[in-house]
Amino acid sequence: MARRTHSIAVRGAGVVGLWQALTLARRGHAVTLYERTPHPFAEACSPYAGAMLAPRCEEESAEGVIRDLGKRGIALWREVYPGTIANGTLVVALHRDRAELDRFARMTGGHQRLSPTDLAAVEPGLADRFAGALLYEEEAHLAPEPALRFLLDAVIAEGVTLRLGDGEMPKAADLVIDCRGLAAKDELPTLRGVRGERVVVRSREVDLARPMRLLHPRFPLYVVPWGDGLYMIGATVIESEETGAITLRSALDLLSAAYAVNPAFAEAEIVRQGAGARPAFPDNRPRIIPRKGYIYVNGLYRHGFLLAPVLADLVAAYVETGATDPEVFREDPAQR
Ligand SMILES: Cc1cc2nc3c(=O)[nH]c(=O)nc-3n(C[C@H](O)[C@H](O)[C@H](O)COP(=O)(O)OP(=O)(O)OC[C@H]3O[C@@H](n4cnc5c(N)ncnc54)[C@H](O)[C@@H]3O)c2cc1C
Repeated sequence: MARRTHSIAVRGAGVVGLWQALTLARRGHAVTLYERTPHPFAEACSPYAGAMLAPRCEEESAEGVIRDLGKRGIALWREVYPGTIANGTLVVALHRDRAELDRFARMTGGHQRLSPTDLAAVEPGLADRFAGALLYEEEAHLAPEPALRFLLDAVIAEGVTLRLGDGEMPKAADLVIDCRGLAAKDELPTLRGVRGERVVVRSREVDLARPMRLLHPRFPLYVVPWGDGLYMIGATVIESEETGAITLRSALDLLSAAYAVNPAFAEAEIVRQGAGARPAFPDNRPRIIPRKGYIYVNGLYRHGFLLAPVLADLVAAYVETGATDPEVFREDPAQR
């Protein structure tokens, strides 16, 4: 029997809205994508991301649902986006912080211990500076801006109607999927922003093939190689919704930690700096919230890239069969 298709409006063209539009259009639904800003991504959180696909490393602080859904997230990115780089993640600590590495190993799974000699063989750019490392082979990453542009092109190629500069409530649709990120606070009152500051540098001397996380008691940091000599150095986690420029203190912390990881960063050129606000619910778990003719997909916090494709599949299954996964189909805590 032919599947019933719907006319669907998606609000918001961040990573979440783009994956929703793409997945639903590929399944035969008639999709219109509304983005408030005339220039896509101009006011989105998404371009600020790492964008690491790191369900195992995130186990350190996130609930099991992130790990479980995240594995599917990597598989979906790899199926759709050729720019997905599946080289794993390295977690390192300086000699004096060796205990941090043991703690991180206990809190997470799916890793392999590397001695300093193993580390030098896997990632020569990190040789001779660390007590050892944890290698998370199943993790992946990508550069967010090319990935977002790829998704936008893919959405258009699938026949989605794009309405840029239109933030009005869509009228002629069977169903509206709300992916407005932090702007949905008007209807999801417990949503909050968590500020993440980051610096992007270009270096011809640093050569890293995979994201690395430095376990440091004061300045935990990660460095993500985006290709073409670009490295994202991030990121703070601050209870604030302020975006815009980063503070001098954060710049010093991030850049000096990067320099400790690899002194070759001293000669790097600073290309961009800035902060995004991650949309998050009080428990930092993502939610799909259906309400009469409307579905909110929000609260992806530190995991928007990792989880956007999975939540798109879950919404498509709900629209077509009514299936709900209780791990993510949960009301805003204010409504319970
Ligand atoms: C520094 C930093 C590092 C991060 N690193 C990672 C990482 O390594 N891995 C990972 O998975 N995640 C990471 N994240 C998290 C990730 O970036 C977010 O979870 C994700 O971007 C949220 O996407 P979104 O589509 O919900 O929101 P947004 O990207 O904010 O998109 C919402 C869109 O809705 C639009 N909009 C608003 N109002 C309206 C309206 N009325 N009508 C139409 N459109 C509207 C906005 O203009 C915007 O384009 C990081 C975030 C930060 C800040």
